[in-house]
This record gives sequence, structure tokens and C-alpha cells, in this order.
Amino acid sequence: MGSDHAPGHPPPLTTLLASGPVALFLDFDGTLVELAPGPDDIEPQAGLADSLATLDIRMGRRCAVVSGRGLSDIEGHIGPLKIAGAGSHGSDMRRADGSLLGHGAQGLPSEIEAELRAYAAQHGLNYEEKPHGGALHYRQNPDAGPDAETFAQELATAHGWAAQSGKCVVEVVAKTANKGAAVKAFMKEPPFKGATPFFIGDDLTDEAGFEACEALGGAGILVGSREQTTARYRLDDVSAVHTWLEI
Ligand SMILES: [Mg+2]
Repeated sequence: MGSDHAPGHPPPLTTLLASGPVALFLDFDGTLVELAPGPDDIEPQAGLADSLATLDIRMGRRCAVVSGRGLSDIEGHIGPLKIAGAGSHGSDMRRADGSLLGHGAQGLPSEIEAELRAYAAQHGLNYEEKPHGGALHYRQNPDAGPDAETFAQELATAHGWAAQSGKCVVEVVAKTANKGAAVKAFMKEPPFKGATPFFIGDDLTDEAGFEACEALGGAGILVGSREQTTARYRLDDVSAVHTWLEI
């Protein structure tokens, strides 16, 4: 799992499927939809939920969206999700039939929320309340990023929570909430169990998903580029992801 080689293009999905069952774990922002200035500014392609449902059937129902967003947030943008999903960094997991996997999202304690809100107000950042935690967005004020990261990290540590960094965002989330844990949870049960898992994502938080897939005999597929990655493969951008998935 070194990063001393540049990841190459993954084999076509048809080739992978010819060797046996494949499971696909898909990040949302920057992977299935283009990144936007703010979380509510995304413009998903029309019919994305249906395209994912079609892909899911092709994959034998072994397809899941794994996102930092809450699942209801994603559904607010693309309509009802007809495939499995892990929202809120894996703390809110749902099977394709809608049944809950795990315990659901754990909300942020009010004292942490109050501190994050106050910090955002003082430093001109956007605070976003999430089902599983709270996020400081600094895309509008990138210079404030490093200090916000440090603040969130120290606050999380002090309260026994974890901080997760994304693109111009840092979130305070439960320690158990990560994309690798979500992959492992789905892979423990049918129809995922026994399949070769691949995780496609562009975020730092997706690295945990890449590692989980490697450990289970599959691989990570990085969207875009990064100097250090455990991904074995890469795709250029959202459009390349859609082409590779044939959606
Ligand atoms: Mg992403």
C-alpha cells in the first residue's frame, strides 16, 4: 500500500465483474457530483438516483453511497436513494431496502456545538449542523482554515470526539464515524459479503475506505490526485467516474 507509484486507471468494470462479485462504495461530493462553493450549491446530473439504482442492480445490489453528508441531505438533492448508503461519515448506515445498519447517527453534545458555533461567528466561517456532528466551512475564508482545523482538533480531543478534515471543511464527529468502518460493516453481511470491494472517492476521509477495501482484497480508486494515497487506481474527475461506472 505504498504511495511511491502513481496510481493507474482501473480496469473496466466489466473486466472486474468477469472475475466475480464486486462491491462498489461511492463517495458523493467530488465523486458523483461536482464540488460547489457551498454544500447546497451542487448540481447533480438529472436522474442520478435512477442511474445509481440501475448500477446497483448490475452489481447484484452491492453498491453503497458513502458520504460525509447525511443521507437525508443527499436525498434532498437527488431524490430518494434506492441503494444502500452510509451518511454522516458512516455513522448513519442504511441497507438498500431502507433498514438501518448499526445504531444510527450520534448527535453532537450541546457544549461542543456551542463552541463551534461561537468560533464560526467570530471568524467569519459557516457552521453546519449535521445529524452526526458539526462542520466548520472555510471555503469563503481559506486563510482561516489552518486555525479552524487546529481549533476543531483540540475541541474534539478535549471531549473524546474526533475531527475529520475535508476540502475547506473540518468536522467534529464521533470517533467511530469513518468511511472505513462503513465499508467493513456492509462487507460483513449479504449481499456484500465475499465480494471484491472498491471505494471511489476524492476526499482525505476516503483514504479510510481505500484501506478497508485493500484489506478485504479490493482497492481504492482516487478521484483527482494527491501526493500520498493508499488508492491503487485513479480517475481524473467526476466525469471520468461516471464514464467508468457507465452511468
Ligand atoms: Mg468527496
